[in-house]
Amino acid sequence: MLYENTIAATATSSANGSISVIRVSGKETFAAVSNIFCDGKGNRINLSKYETHTIHYGFICDESNRLIDEVLVLLMRAPRSYTREDVIEIHCHGGHYICEEILQLLLKCGVRIAEPGEFTKRAFLNGRLDLSQAESVMDVIQSKSKLALQNSLQQLRGKIREKIIVLREMILEDVAYLEAALDDPEHISLDDFTERIESHVDYLLTEVNHLIENSNNGRLIKDGIHTVIVGKPNVGKSSLLNCMLRENRAIVTNVPGTTRDTLEEDIRIGNHLLRLIDTAGIHQTENEVECIGIAKSKESMEKADFIICVLNQNESLSEEDREVLSLIEEKDGVILLNKSDLPAALQKEEIMRYSNKKVIPFSAKRGEGLDELEDYLNQLLSDRKMDSKEEIYITNVRQREALLRTKESLEKVEESIQAGMPEDMYAIDLTDAYESLGLIIGETVEEDIIEKIFKDFCMGK
Ligand code: GDP
Repeated sequence: MLYENTIAATATSSANGSISVIRVSGKETFAAVSNIFCDGKGNRINLSKYETHTIHYGFICDESNRLIDEVLVLLMRAPRSYTREDVIEIHCHGGHYICEEILQLLLKCGVRIAEPGEFTKRAFLNGRLDLSQAESVMDVIQSKSKLALQNSLQQLRGKIREKIIVLREMILEDVAYLEAALDDPEHISLDDFTERIESHVDYLLTEVNHLIENSNNGRLIKDGIHTVIVGKPNVGKSSLLNCMLRENRAIVTNVPGTTRDTLEEDIRIGNHLLRLIDTAGIHQTENEVECIGIAKSKESMEKADFIICVLNQNESLSEEDREVLSLIEEKDGVILLNKSDLPAALQKEEIMRYSNKKVIPFSAKRGEGLDELEDYLNQLLSDRKMDSKEEIYITNVRQREALLRTKESLEKVEESIQAGMPEDMYAIDLTDAYESLGLIIGETVEEDIIEKIFKDFCMGK
């Protein structure tokens, strides 16, 4: 084991629930918990005598045998635990205060409070998880849709690792052969080597490019499809957002740090997560209404994966509507002909003269057209094929950057081959590609980066 320290933290949410779990990990785990764990008569129970993966009933008591709580303790001996160290989970009654008391007692027994992510960091440093798996732990916890969860679970089970290892092995063999041949040119021939490298690099680039392309879908899976609602003031954008939220029973959360007014909400459509962004309220909070509205809409549209354009069918098409229609041409989207409950002043055919997007008659007031809109969105998202169990969708920005670096190095090898450079030139770039791939699974990551990665974790994880 790498660590001398024994650590502890509450692993469950800090809100009051019916039970809480305190996790303890490290060499002194059994001794420390035995110090505070008693039977009904206040006698200390020595947990060291019990087998791994057993559960024991008892009480947590302080030095003067004051009862703190009635608990269950769950024993896991190294290496059969999350951290690969001795681990005990104390299942106590829910409540911040009880957990604090128990943690205070553990501190007196020489245990220290774990840093955020420290359990997972130990799991990584003790070789139980690679870095891509460790990073997926938080994604599993924070998953907001079926697809996001499915994807992070696959990562947690080592799917990325398996793929990266195959690619790295291939590079390593070539580098090893190349270096051996350069050392011993009399016995190891480099004839045909260029063709071999060329075909390998070609294969590697195809695989890496595929992973990079899929990582675009990975972002959509993890963070949701950025869906921007645009249209001139008063066409019913806020009403549409309200209508989608009210009707959609699967509202996930307010986006952290925002309120209802700041206009971003997550909803689920089928297996997908949509982040709805309403540009309407942006100009409502400003005074120079119209022009700022358009400017802000433009800004949001640039970041959009999908656009819902709202028009008022009770009014004829204005210059401003046409401007909005032209702005969305380049993007995926749909047009809603809102206020269909009012007399029609604008026909579908007229809109189709300016846009080839699907037009859906809609009434945000009555909720009419909502099913058609959701079916259409669902179909569109399913067509993007983000749900293949065979594919790897990298969702992590750090891992994606490492892929981009790998691609760069492989392209350099390709260029060297085409320029007829000597073989020893390939080795440097191939080694760089090998190391960049290693960053993904944590084989070539510097200590400070590891620190940074685990700091973003929550306490007790
Ligand atoms: P925004 O400025 O585009 O966000 O528009 P709002 O959602 O604030 O709506 C502007 C006005 O149109 C409000 O008075 C809404 O009640 C009304 N409105 C919105 N949708 C409908 C609809 O489908 N039918 C009718 N009759 N009125 C609507």
